[in-house]
Order: sequence, then C-alpha cells, then structure tokens
Amino acid sequence: MKKWNGWGSDEYEYPVPPAARDFLAEAIGPSEQGPTATFGDLVKGVPKSRLPDDALISRDPAERLRHARGHSLPDWISLRYGSIDSFPDGVARPASEEEVEKILGFAAATGTHLIPYGGGTSVVGHINPSRNGPPVLTVNLERMRRMPELDESSRLAAFEAGVSGPHLEAQLRARGFTLGHFPQSFEYSTLGGWIATRSSGQQSLYYGRIEDLFAGGRMIAPAGRLEMPPFPASAAGPDLREAVLGSEGRLGIITSAVVRVSPLPESERFYGLFFPDWSQGVAAVKEMAQEKLGLSMIRLSDSVETTTSLNLIGNERLVRLLNGLLRVRGIKDEKCQLFIGVTGSEAQAKRIRRRALDIARAHGGVHVGRKMGSEWRKSRFKTPYLRNTLWDFGYAVDTLETALSWTNLPAAADAVLGTLRRGIDERGERVLAFAHISHVYPTGASIYVTYVFRLARTAEETLERWKKLKEAASQAILNHGGTISHQHGVGLDHEPWLEAEKGRLGREAIAALARAFDPKGIMNPGKLIADRLPRKRK
Ligand SMILES: Cc1cc2nc3c(=O)[nH]c(=O)nc-3n(C[C@H](O)[C@H](O)[C@H](O)COP(=O)(O)OP(=O)(O)OC[C@H]3O[C@@H](n4cnc5c(N)ncnc54)[C@H](O)[C@@H]3O)c2cc1C
Repeated sequence: MKKWNGWGSDEYEYPVPPAARDFLAEAIGPSEQGPTATFGDLVKGVPKSRLPDDALISRDPAERLRHARGHSLPDWISLRYGSIDSFPDGVARPASEEEVEKILGFAAATGTHLIPYGGGTSVVGHINPSRNGPPVLTVNLERMRRMPELDESSRLAAFEAGVSGPHLEAQLRARGFTLGHFPQSFEYSTLGGWIATRSSGQQSLYYGRIEDLFAGGRMIAPAGRLEMPPFPASAAGPDLREAVLGSEGRLGIITSAVVRVSPLPESERFYGLFFPDWSQGVAAVKEMAQEKLGLSMIRLSDSVETTTSLNLIGNERLVRLLNGLLRVRGIKDEKCQLFIGVTGSEAQAKRIRRRALDIARAHGGVHVGRKMGSEWRKSRFKTPYLRNTLWDFGYAVDTLETALSWTNLPAAADAVLGTLRRGIDERGERVLAFAHISHVYPTGASIYVTYVFRLARTAEETLERWKKLKEAASQAILNHGGTISHQHGVGLDHEPWLEAEKGRLGREAIAALARAFDPKGIMNPGKLIADRLPRKRK
C-alpha cells in the first residue's frame, strides 16, 4: 500500500550501510529517531466534513487524511509530528468527463473549492487545502487512466489525464512505443500532474520536457470546456496549451491529453564517469550540451554529492576499490560523478557514446564502465526512499532546484550552497548541502540541490529551520538570475517569489487568466498566485 506519511510503498525499505549513520553524525551531528505520529491518532483529529452527502463523494476521515498533504518538507513535518491542521472535506474519484462535469456543477451549486489531484507527489504544497474558507473537495483522477487512442502513424497517443507513469508506459510499450517522460516520481505521479506543474523527466534531453510532449487535449473549467487540438504546429494566435501547462489546478481539470510518443529505442544505456573536480565536469557537460550530441541524460554531481552518495548508498568494499582506481588516474577527493544516457539506434548510440567520452576525456574525465550506469538505472526510482530512512534516523531531507545560464551557474551554485550551509548557524545547527546538474540546454542548465539537517524536538522548530533555509536559498537563486523553479512548480512554497520573476503585470495576467476560466475562484485557490491584491512594486 502507498505510504500515507512518506515516500512510496509500505512494502519497500531503503537500507543504508552502518557507516552511513556515522557519516551523517560527522557531517551535521548525531540525531535521534525522528517523530512518527500514528495514522490512527491523526484520523481521530480529522474534523467532521462540511459537505452534503453525495454519491460521487467520500467523506471518510481516512481518505481525507490520505489526501491532505503532498511531499514537501512542511507536508512531511505536519504528518510525521502530527501537527496537521487542514483536511479536504471530501474526496471524489470521477471515472469519466461526465462525472468531472457533475463535480464542477456540485462545486458551483454549493460554493465548494476544488483541488485537482493526480498522484499527490507535489513538493511545493500544491494539493494542500487551506485552513480557512469554504469546504474543500479533492478530485482524485486515478480512475481516469485509459488510452482511448494511439495514432501510430502520427505518433500521437490520447490518454485520460489521471494515468500514472507506470500505467501510461505499460499501455504504450505493449504497442511498441514510449513517452520517455521519467521524473523521479514516475511511479506515482500522473500525466495531468506533469502538465499542470511543467514537469521534467530524467531523459528530457532526448524525449523533451512535458511541454514538448503535450500536443493537445481537453480541460474542463468552471467557465466551460477548453479543446486543444493536437496540430503539429499553428500560427493561430497565442498557444493556449501554454496557459494550461503550469496551471496547477487553478484554471480547471485537465481530463485528457494527447502526447507525442516515440517508438521504443533499439538501444538505451547509461554510463558512469568521474572528473577530477566540479569545474572540469561543468566544462565537459556544457560542451556536450552545446554540441547537441543527442545524449538522453546528463547528470553531474558536485564533489559533496558524489562523496555523500558513495557513503550512503555505495557498497563499502566496492567504494574503496573505486577510490583506489580513481586515485591512480589522478582523481582524488574533489571527484565529481557524471552519468550519461545514450538512447537511439545501435549505430547512433555508438557514435554518440564515442563522442561524449572523447569530450569527457578532454576535460580530465575517466569512464568507469557500464556497471555503474546500469546500477543507477535499476535504482533510479528508489533513491527517494532514502528520505524515509533518513527521517527515521532523525534527519530532514529537502531539495530545491533552479535553471540559469552557463554564465551565472558557477556563482549561483556557490551562493545557494553557501547560504544553505551557513543558514542555521545561529541555531547551532549544521547543514549538509550538495548539488547536481540534472538537465542541460545549450544556453544553461538546471541545478538540483539537496540539503540535510537535524530534526528538532518540535514541529515548530523544525519548520523554522526549514523556513530560514528555504527563504535564504530562494533569495540567492533570484539574486543570481535563476528561476524560482525549473520543474517543481510554484504551489504554496514558491508563490512569494513568483512576482519577482514574472513582474507585476505578468502576475496580474496570470490572475486574469484564472478569472476567465474560473470566474468564482473555486479552483485550487491560493496556489500559484495567492488570493490577494498584487504587491506594490518596491
Ligand atoms: C520523490 C520525488 C521526486 C520527484 N521528481 C521529479 C522530477 O524528476 N521531475 C519533476 O518534474 N518533478 C518531480 N517531482 C515533483 C512532482 O512529482 C511533480 O510535480 C509531478 O508532476 C506532480 O504530479 P502529480 O500527478 O503527483 O500531481 P499532484 O501532486 O497530484 O498535483 C500537482 C499539481 O497539479 C494539479 N493537477 C494534477 N492533476 C491535474 C489535472 N488532471 N488537471 C488539473 N490540474 C491537475 C494539482 O491541482 C496540483 O496543483 C518529484 C516529487 C517527489 C516527491
């Protein structure tokens, strides 16, 4: 069963070697078992639903608790410490567009707010009901997961939008196709959620981000239906798919999506390399990106991330052997690990791999063989389970991400990591912070930062630590010319920084769009843009 207060399935655990705990104790101090409130206790605290009885709605307290939070660190804190203070009043699971329309009619008639819900994997507070205001109904789309049509000739597949990653790929693979969209949350996130948050998959370099894959579809809004035909291209004015991408449930419910699919590749392999240091690694991946080699993935870890992941997930004996081998090749303590993915026909893959390794070698890179790449592939959706394990050890793990130009990237990475590492000094706490470049473009790249700190005894103090770190890092991102989010979206947690990125007029334009599709403001209020007047320009 899906975990109600952590990542993934109850059946899977991510064990770490005994030395991992010593490594963390050395880096940021020893910690005690993290708090874990029980499901039974929390269910008792779910208040009575304010919604009337309706055949399409469940008012079961356990269902409402399971839909109350996503996967941001504040979400985990409120679930694990048992400090959760808002719940949806009901959960609906429509099985068709007709039922979605009935739910919208119900909401209009009763003044209920609606939260579209895909897999609930949001990491920025997208699906959290607000504490005050009218009743809230969460609309879980998991029953809408069919593929009504696959046009093999045009390579277009129509799906109901509640389909999760594994169900989508299984239906396509049975016919010899793939979407190629593999966010790390693949096992639980959904097509509708990917579109509504502008998601990016691990192999977006080859298959494209969701905005490249989303060809058309349908959104049902309080003001009516929006049809988006999947034209190969169109000059008929602004492209309304762009309004739906990143709409975060504010405009309506995406019920179906037509996506651009590819035939299953003949060859798909991943390789592991090491560089002597970060600057040489960055120079290599920039060259690979700008040469448009056709790689499907480039993922370069800084030296702290490299060391941390070898300590937390590596086999101690193999890591010792690897370190010995790398030392002989001149790669020592500052080593940075790179994974590349090569996808395509056998002939293309061979050519691309050869060229990528040539570039790497020219920047001091050493290829350590296919085994490391295959291991990465096997565990690509399992590493988030590490967050459960570390919480049990008493450590909070959070991530943040941005994208910026190659020119701004080095200083931005230093500033964000430095800010995090010093961020809670005054509270006598240390922070382990590290980064990788996870998506590259000819003009720049995305930096994905992970930071780990000790849980406090109370939810309030842990939340305070997080707030200090999040605010300081977000400001550092903006100061260095980065976007507030490359792939996670805005939700609640990034909303305070949206206006700095879009400008006042830009923010007002988004608000006007929401009013056009949802005149009474019943769709996921408070997310993406807060329900307040725009701030005065300073
Ligand atoms: C461990 C982990 C790893 C992650 N890795 C990645 C990654 O590699 N790349 C990445 O891009 N993101 C990643 N994420 C973030 C998250 O998975 C994405 O934002 C994902 O796109 C959310 O999809 P979902 O179906 O779970 O949506 P939800 O979390 O259910 O909802 C997210 C938002 O989309 C809206 N929404 C959902 N479905 C619809 C719909 N049908 N119509 C209208 N609005 C809708 C919701 O109202 C909400 O505002 C990760 C998250 C976790 C926890």
